[in-house]
Amino acid sequence: MDHFLYRDGALFAEDVPVAEIAAQVGTPFYCYSSATLTRHFKLFDDALSGMPHLVCYAMKAASNQAILKTLAALGAGMDVVSGGEYARAKAAGVPGERIVFSGVGKTRDEIHTVLTGGIRQFNVESEPEMAVINEVALELGLVAPITIRVNPDVDAKTHAKIATGKAENKFGIPISRAREVYAHAARLKGLKIVGIDVHIGSQLTQLEPFEQAYRKVADLTEALRADGHEITRLDLGGGLGIPYTRSNDAPPLPVEYGALVQKTLGHLGCEIEIEPGRLIAGNAGILVSKVIYVKQGEDREFMIVDAAMNDLIRPAMYEAHHDIVSVIEPEAGLEQGRYDIVGPVCETGDTFAKERVMPPVVAGDLIAFRSAGAYGAVMASEYNSRPLIPEVLVHEDQFAVIRRRPTLDEMINRDTIPEWL
Ligand SMILES: *Cc1c(COP(=O)(O)O)cnc(C)c1O
Repeated sequence: MDHFLYRDGALFAEDVPVAEIAAQVGTPFYCYSSATLTRHFKLFDDALSGMPHLVCYAMKAASNQAILKTLAALGAGMDVVSGGEYARAKAAGVPGERIVFSGVGKTRDEIHTVLTGGIRQFNVESEPEMAVINEVALELGLVAPITIRVNPDVDAKTHAKIATGKAENKFGIPISRAREVYAHAARLKGLKIVGIDVHIGSQLTQLEPFEQAYRKVADLTEALRADGHEITRLDLGGGLGIPYTRSNDAPPLPVEYGALVQKTLGHLGCEIEIEPGRLIAGNAGILVSKVIYVKQGEDREFMIVDAAMNDLIRPAMYEAHHDIVSVIEPEAGLEQGRYDIVGPVCETGDTFAKERVMPPVVAGDLIAFRSAGAYGAVMASEYNSRPLIPEVLVHEDQFAVIRRRPTLDEMINRDTIPEWL
């Protein structure tokens, strides 16, 4: 459920007409709903309420300061994957003890920054990384709390580009070697083992792969405890999928996921951490765009819009589907159009949808890409010298620009001309 609904014939974001935002901000832009962000965070928080837990929002999904503040105010921790995200989380007021540091290539500098600034735990992805964390901690006279990310070798049954829990993926250490690696970690004086980490992929639409992975984590917890390690925390990653279409079977709900966590891991008495990104932000954001032209091709009609692959890359990168709706609610019974919906970028890949059946549009109409809140704005680029588009946050009947569109001069002036030119 989200808060982008038609009311009196027009699409609203909470209590604000989307067309009114467009008139003030200009298109294209991202628009997020505070109420949806809040609702989704609380669904997870409630789903785990029977266990000690912390929901660490995976901020790579959408990392605007205003979004982080909205979630942090509800008690969210953050899952960060770079020094930049760590700085963003800190800037939004999230204390170090609520930040976990994931990611497969943490640099020495990042490790130094994070250790100095305070961190809940490092989710260690390899033995060489573990050695560097240990070294930096010893240099600083600190002890780094760690979990080790294990790769459980399960098939997450998701798009290949976002599956992370198979043996062939670059993430974590093979679960078969976990006891050996934990034994090694226990000998390093700069590290303190606090738990186990696992994250098998994104946009999972079934619970079964989670169940397989969590059962393996339960067995591993017992084996590691028998080896003398203190395992008090289980970080279960993110990955629960969202409905990108209204027609498809809905993925499992957070409450069902929470019950699975309780069933597979509840008896261990560990503190549970989860790192949802997409399910919190995905359906809390839309991308609003304007139709520039409708062009008749040989055998199809093209809807050329002012958003492009540089603003929302998911269709080009993952063959992702986004529902696309008119901002003015179409009259019932209108004969449908059929469009290839494309952006202005000079790439054939700049295609949002092919042969999409939707109510007819004319140049100047506003459309909205639904489910664009996660992995949307954060993946944007300035390809074709298109400015990064604004982000807007709605709260009830108010809205605010939370990142403005840069001017072309600002973009150009980031370049510097060498002396010899
Ligand atoms: C990307 C990522 C997440 C979030 O995944 P979602 O599918 O957005 O929930 C969580 N943990 C780690 C380590 C990740 O890399």
